[in-house]
Amino acid sequence: MRSLVWFRGKDLRVSDHGPLAEGAKGELIPLFVLDPRFFAPERARELPHRMQFLLGSLEELGARIAGLGSRLVIAEGRSVEVVPRLAALWKVDQVLAHRWTEPFGRERDRRVAQGLAGRGIPLRLFEGETLLPPGSVRTAQGGMFRVFTPFARACALRLAPSSPVPAPGSLPPLPSGVGTEGIPIPSLEALGLAPNPRVQSGGEAAAQARLRAFLAGPLARYAEERDRMDLEGTSRLSADLKFGTCSIRQAWAAASGSEGAGPFLNELLWREFSHHLLWEWPELLQKPFRADFQGFPWRKDEAAWKAWVAGRTGYPVVDAAARQLLAEGFVHNRARMVAASFLAKHLLLDFRLGEAHYLKWLTDGDWAQNDAGWQWSAGCGCDAQPWFRIFNPVAQGRRFDPRGDYVRRWVPELAGLPPDGIHEPWRAPEHQRARLDYPDPVVDHAFARERFLAAAKGHLRKESP
Ligand SMILES: Cc1cc2nc3c(=O)[nH]c(=O)nc-3n(C[C@H](O)[C@H](O)[C@H](O)COP(=O)(O)OP(=O)(O)OC[C@H]3O[C@@H](n4cnc5c(N)ncnc54)[C@H](O)[C@@H]3O)c2cc1C
Repeated sequence: MRSLVWFRGKDLRVSDHGPLAEGAKGELIPLFVLDPRFFAPERARELPHRMQFLLGSLEELGARIAGLGSRLVIAEGRSVEVVPRLAALWKVDQVLAHRWTEPFGRERDRRVAQGLAGRGIPLRLFEGETLLPPGSVRTAQGGMFRVFTPFARACALRLAPSSPVPAPGSLPPLPSGVGTEGIPIPSLEALGLAPNPRVQSGGEAAAQARLRAFLAGPLARYAEERDRMDLEGTSRLSADLKFGTCSIRQAWAAASGSEGAGPFLNELLWREFSHHLLWEWPELLQKPFRADFQGFPWRKDEAAWKAWVAGRTGYPVVDAAARQLLAEGFVHNRARMVAASFLAKHLLLDFRLGEAHYLKWLTDGDWAQNDAGWQWSAGCGCDAQPWFRIFNPVAQGRRFDPRGDYVRRWVPELAGLPPDGIHEPWRAPEHQRARLDYPDPVVDHAFARERFLAAAKGHLRKESP
């Protein structure tokens, strides 16, 4: 049996890799395709931090596969053409890969399967992106879950503590004459991108080190500290889970049973929820989950948008989030929620603008989770923050950055302000304010709140049957 194991951007590892374990039972050809959808320089520039993480992970994957006795073949071109062509050229019996949740991934796989079928070769898709196959967790009536808690409960009932598959001890060498057409992994520079030293390193070794460090420390305090923007209280595994340098089963299995693991596992189930939701509702990437939010009267305000992007809104936590995003491709979850809510509710700007901006700059930028996060924050998502609950960025700052350290790190202009004043710099004494190179609030909180509530009430009243 000769198998082509097609690695994609979500399973860049050799451990807990079902297709690899299966393919290694016979002759094996590991393949990664540089599809212009992501790797054309103009597309790569739209995801600079993700591309950096991905290329680093790919380099390491290549080295690991070589260390095990095989070789990762890199090919270039549209997957829908390249995979069937190479599979036929290399006379493989089957193509093995992990399943994707996103609509465009599913469409790609449908077309690849069709191309392969014309040549008599099956495409076998393995589970692994989620803990349970998307579409398999259903209500008693057979519908999709629209609320997280019953979804999580239903998952918990079905989740058997299966052990992740270990990495193979060795791999068979490439069959002779195969893979000579492979090309090298491109450098970031070749794609027109400059490396950013503050972006997390990719690769399985870094992912496993992050997982171990989290288990050894922050996990036990996760319930108390996960919301604190000023502390390193979370796992920082999001990019690893996105690119599969750590599998979701590995994270789940490693944390299960540890003291304090419950709230962490619950977050992994939020991830699960967003993927299952996108599977059931592929149109989510285009429109709000709540139909009555269609045609919402978002404003157009270029100056406000630019202030939000640049971290110059005058609201310290919102600005810290914006700057952290551009500087290191990561934002703390609480800061994401505050910043996203601010864009949609305080500035009344279309949440999809922010969603696209986050997807461009986040290293963990993931279609399902990012869309769910934005729709949650704007109030139009599935089991979202109610539209009439509006975060007060000052209160959020005081509660989840009590000493102001998160703000101080990302908005150094405010570093000299005391903890009780840093979240409201406009209240600083006049002589101090005059020395701060920091803008006044772009909008007054009370005014913005009323403006959003009036717009939402007016629109939702019109839209409700
Ligand atoms: C506006 C907005 C946009 C977001 N965009 C993304 C995104 O593109 N990619 C992404 O991975 N997460 C996204 N999230 C969810 C969350 O902010 C990140 O997963 C988290 O901050 C990553 O840090 P961590 O790995 O240290 O998380 P931890 O607290 O250690 O959580 C462990 C894992 O659980 C998952 N998780 C945690 N919180 C959530 C959540 N609220 N929803 C879904 N999954 C969650 C992540 O995979 C995370 O790595 C977004 C949230 C919001 C509010």
